[in-house]
Amino acid sequence: MAEITQRQRYDFKRKIEELKSCKGKHTELISLYVPPSKQIFDVNSYLKNEYSQSQNIKSKTTRKNVLSAIESIMSRLKYFKQPPENGVVFFVGHRSVSSDQTEMVAYVIEPPIPITTFLYRCDSSFYIEPLEEVFTEREIYGLLLLDRRECTIGILRGNKVELLKYMTSRVPGKHGRGGQSQRRFERLTEIAAHEWFVKCGEKASEIFLTEENLKGIFVGGSGPTKQYFVDEDYLHYEIQNKIIDTFDTGYTDEFGLKELVSAASETMTDLKISKEKKVMKRFFKEVTKTEKSLAVYGEAQVRKALEMGVIDTLLLSEDLRKYRLKMKCQACDYTEDRTVDEEALNDFSPPTCSKCNTSIQMEAHEKIDLIDEFSDIAEKIGAKVHLISRNSEEGDSLYRAFSGLAGILRYPVDI
Ligand code: ZN
Repeated sequence: MAEITQRQRYDFKRKIEELKSCKGKHTELISLYVPPSKQIFDVNSYLKNEYSQSQNIKSKTTRKNVLSAIESIMSRLKYFKQPPENGVVFFVGHRSVSSDQTEMVAYVIEPPIPITTFLYRCDSSFYIEPLEEVFTEREIYGLLLLDRRECTIGILRGNKVELLKYMTSRVPGKHGRGGQSQRRFERLTEIAAHEWFVKCGEKASEIFLTEENLKGIFVGGSGPTKQYFVDEDYLHYEIQNKIIDTFDTGYTDEFGLKELVSAASETMTDLKISKEKKVMKRFFKEVTKTEKSLAVYGEAQVRKALEMGVIDTLLLSEDLRKYRLKMKCQACDYTEDRTVDEEALNDFSPPTCSKCNTSIQMEAHEKIDLIDEFSDIAEKIGAKVHLISRNSEEGDSLYRAFSGLAGILRYPVDI
């Protein structure tokens, strides 16, 4: 599979969110998947047939909407001599915008990975599951934390940590009552510990064996127990063979999972999460500098630095969800841009023109995702762009403490 860039991945993810939000009043939203091997001619015949079938739809509005959606797809299909390299997907139909209004939407998508099956569906929502396949994470690692008291099993999927199982043991502490019974007590403790390790090994193996794409396993814990557990082969041999290394962590519960990932990402530098952490650490180092700092953050500062062309690395939180609205006065052509949060977008009404000084309301004529806007400028000035998830502590603080936008400058400048 070709490598999908961060930007493609992001744009695609947003497109899917948009498609998911489209709802039809009735079964009138059409999804059509055309694999690269399918002849356009065949697709056309298929649609013609659907078209005549749809003449029988009882409800007049639904019939009208379905027919016009099919017509729209057929006319778009004319632009293709053959399907593109990875095939093409059409999502066309009338989505409902209010209780009595609908709006025709049409998306033509060329997916980053090939479509495998031809599919036509007419429903009250778009059928997007096959497209979501693109996001199936292929970088998966098992996480296992244990000592004599606790065992935590988790999974690292890309840059996301999931807790799957937490168990506690009844192995008694190492200190018995002393004297004659001490040795007997120790022996019982060892038996209990062995049983505990067997249980942990079985549970972890059971969970990890269901993960098809498991690339490796990280084992953590505070004491020597984890190494003993690994050396004594308590895991299923297939899982045992996937152990990459053991790491020291302070906790063996849910907190330990993040510690373990952090520790592993220090040595496993090609992990997705390591890359995110690494670039964020570079930024944090700059932020704390009192002199000649290369850090900028917040929309205004980052925008200015981008326009000056002095950004070396741009850091954008994947969860930013902000838009740049371009507004224009219809009377004097005065233009103004404004950034609006996604939630505020629907209620946003453009201000009156500050130049004419009249009561003429400006017209918002263009809406750009801030991530797209900034990435485009960054590309032009040759800056590196990193889309940062909130799955690591560092990524989360980019979102919360630095409003999701930051940059590292090429050289210190006053901004
Ligand atoms: Zn004006």
